[in-house]
This record gives sequence, structure tokens and C-alpha cells, in this order.
Amino acid sequence: MNLSSIAAFLNPVNLFSIRGGIHPETRKFLTADCAIEEMPLPKLLRIPLQQHIGAEAAALVKRGDRVLKGQLIGKARGPVSANIHSPTSGTVVAVGEFVAPHPSGLPVPTVTIRTDGLDEWGPRLPRLRPETASPAEIAAQVAEAGIVGMGGATFPSAIKLNLRDRYPLTTLIINAAECEPYLTCDDRLIREHAEEVADGAAIIAKALGVDEIIIAIESNKPQAAAAIAHFNQPLGLRLQVKVVPTQYPMGSEKHLVQMVTGKETPARALTAELGVVVHNAATAHAVHLAVRYGEPLISRLLTVSGRAISRPANLRVRIGTPVLDIINHCGGLTEDPERLLLGGPMMGQPIATQRVPIVKGTNGILALSASEARKEDMMPCIRCGTCVQACPCGLTPFEMNARIQSGDLDGAARVGLMDCVNCGCCSYVCPSNIPLVQGFAFARGKLAEKQSRKHQQEETKRLAAARIAREEAIAEKKRAAMAKRKSEMAAKKAEEAAAAQEAAK
Ligand code: SF4
Ligand code: SF4
Repeated sequence: MNLSSIAAFLNPVNLFSIRGGIHPETRKFLTADCAIEEMPLPKLLRIPLQQHIGAEAAALVKRGDRVLKGQLIGKARGPVSANIHSPTSGTVVAVGEFVAPHPSGLPVPTVTIRTDGLDEWGPRLPRLRPETASPAEIAAQVAEAGIVGMGGATFPSAIKLNLRDRYPLTTLIINAAECEPYLTCDDRLIREHAEEVADGAAIIAKALGVDEIIIAIESNKPQAAAAIAHFNQPLGLRLQVKVVPTQYPMGSEKHLVQMVTGKETPARALTAELGVVVHNAATAHAVHLAVRYGEPLISRLLTVSGRAISRPANLRVRIGTPVLDIINHCGGLTEDPERLLLGGPMMGQPIATQRVPIVKGTNGILALSASEARKEDMMPCIRCGTCVQACPCGLTPFEMNARIQSGDLDGAARVGLMDCVNCGCCSYVCPSNIPLVQGFAFARGKLAEKQSRKHQQEETKRLAAARIAREEAIAEKKRAAMAKRKSEMAAKKAEEAAAAQEAAK
């Protein structure tokens, strides 16, 4: 595609607007020109059995087992869960608790594999021909391959493919906005593997039964937009590229749908209710590999960046690789980072130790220097309203915060706490440096705990009432049986007395 065509892409047409949002310094230049590198196998892989929304997978291996690349080592259990596969060949050296890649630093069940360097494949999944496969067959293959939302949401993708059974769907949007500062791995994926991403998108569209595919890319990725526009008829479907403005949080599912289609998804509703399903670009690539080649999700692309990293990079890394190995592969740290995060600087999670592994939803490792990580003293709220203007969900962050600070969590929920998407725009713009979004996440956790306690109490009450009702019903039955027996005995006695009288005559 020539420069004038790229310029045409950068002139977004047929788009709508979203409220709020911010324009943080993107700092994508640190890695945007770093081609994807394959990270060498580490000595140890730590593979958590819970890398997705839903129930943790059940371990299928034990200490001492030899495993092959692609072998199923954790089986999904329950309706919302995901399979886990061995990212290479080696020996299982432990199945037990290991620190999670999460700010809590709590341990989670984890399979540890000592890699043997052979990278020997076990049997792959049977390949599918998407041209002839049914939607149910595609969804089943995606479930077998353990694919989850790779933009960070980690919701099992097969469940989203099956939404066709519940909603009349019309449109698939591939989320290639990548609005978080620093991250460029989706950009590189599309620039270097555009045909595979387009094919994955078409396979997803087939599974959903839709014939409209929109690739939504922010305007700061012209090469990616141009690269994928070449493949505009995958599987005979029509693929359109829509270049959306560079604005955070454009990658938020509901906001992207609104920008592209003009349809606003109500709070706590699904975009599928509007006929639209959104999948991430990396998820589309994983679907391509699973369906065409029978490869389960055992590696992913991520960006390693920040001023405290010696050599920022975009890497393909096996799931379970410890953060420390990845940082060492990138030349180590130049200084003690002020913030060490998995994900982007806006929504990423701080980690307690570099020993934690990367998981299916990890799209970045950031080591931010003191000059990059804003750390200023917090001051009182001056009610300037800047946070209200920035909030893409139309909430009043300062009011929610005031209620949380006074302990009125229910009040905070009444003014929209549960509709907050945790984007952090409010904290970013607050001139008083109030950590609003952290407070909201904490308060939502407390409310969820309270809800669960309330639910438990109600359940206990319901069970007690049911038991009393059951006991009363049994007692009533006994009383009725007794009364019946009494009346039968009385009738029998009367009969006998009458018979005796008759005999005496
Ligand atoms: S931006 Fe900060 S200071 Fe301004 S109203 Fe919101 S919380 Fe208060
Ligand atoms: S974190 Fe929540 S309250 Fe703050 S801007 Fe984002 S959606 Fe609004």
C-alpha cells in the first residue's frame, strides 16, 4: 500500500465518538520498530492452572512425569474454564502452589516443568478445514486448544464463539487498538503476520455466523492497518479496516464498539446483545494456529519495555517463562525500576517478584524508571471535575471516592462504582494525584466480599426455612396418619362392640 492510501486510512470516516478518555504519552517508539524475536527456552517453566476467568484447570500430570510439547497437562473443569498445555517437552518437577503473577502475590496451583531443550511435539490436535468445518466444530477446537482472550481479559474464547446460540449476531470486531502506552506487540503481530490474523478473524466470523469483519486499529499504527488491508477477503468474507483515533481507552470493548458502530452497550450488558462480538488480534492469530495446524495456546507475543530495561523488545515467549528470564534475555535492568508491571502502565498489574511466570493474558512487561513513573504527593480533592470529564463511562469519580473514603460502599455503588471499567483515566488526570482507580478496585473487592457473605447468609436462611417447612410437613403427615389410625381404631372398636351386642342377643 502506498503512502497516499495509508493517509486515507488515517482519515477516519464513518466513525462515532466516545465520551471522555485521555491522550497519555504513548512511548511506543521504544519498541515499535523491534521485530518479533523468538525467546530461547528457559530451564524451568511455571505454568499456573488458573490463567483464565473461571474455574482452575485440574492437573493431569504429577511429579516425575515426562511431558511433550502441546500435551494437555490441565483439563478445563466446569462451564467456564480453559485447558492448559505443556509449552515444550521436559519433566514435571513439581505440581503445587507457586506465587501468582498478580499484585496479591498469593500462591496458585502450578505445574513446574524442567525443559529438556528438545522441544519435542506430542500429538497435535486434529487439523480442521475452516472452509467446511461447522461453527460447533470450530468452537470445540478453540476450547480444546485452551484459547482465552489474549488482550488481557482471559475469558475462554470458545464461550464467546458459542454466543451465536443466544444472540442474533451481525458483526465481528477485531480489537487491534492497542491503546495502552508502551505496548506494541499487537502492532508487530499484524505487521509481520497480517495474513494469519486475517485468516483467524475469518475463522472466528464463521464460528459466529457473521459476515461482517471489522479490524479496528488506532491511527498511530499505519503500517499494521496497511498490512492487513491487503487480506480483505479471507475465506470469502469481507474484511474492512477501520482506523480509530489514538485515544485511551479505545481498546475497551464497549467503547470500541461504540466508536465503530455508534451503538452504546448499557452498563453490565454484553456487546453481543447489540449483535457485535469483539476478539483481540492475538486471539485471532491463536485461533488460526489452532484450527489450521492443531496447535494449542502455548506461547504468546509480549512487549518488554520501559527505561529501566536495557534492551526493549517484542518477544514470542512460552507460557510459564519467569519474568526474570525474560528481563535477562533483554540485557537486564539498567536501574531499580520504580514500577515493575505485567501489562501496560494504565491497567497493568504490579508484581511482587520477578520469579512469577508470564501467562496467556500477559501482553507486556514494563520496568519503569523513576522519571517515567509519576509519583507525587497526594493532596485533597479540589472538586475541579477533571476526573468527570475524563471518565469514558460517564461516572463521577470524585463522588465515588468521597463515599468510599467515608465508608459508604453501598452509596458508591449507587453512583456507579460497579459500572467502572478500571481504565484509570480519572487517576491519570487528577491534579491532586488521588489514586482514584486503586480505591475503586479495592472497594469493588470489598463489595463483592459483602455480596458473597450476604448471599451465604441468605442461603443459610433459605436452607433453615426449607428444613423447618420439611419438618413441619413430616409432623403434619404424622399427625394426619395418627388421626386416621385413631378414627380407624374407633370405627373398629364400634364395629366390634356392635358385633358383640349382636352376638349377645
Ligand atoms: S480530578 Fe481529582 S481533584 Fe479534581 S474533582 Fe476529581 S478527584 Fe477531585
Ligand atoms: S477508572 Fe472508572 S471511574 Fe475512573 S475514569 Fe475509568 S471508568 Fe471512570
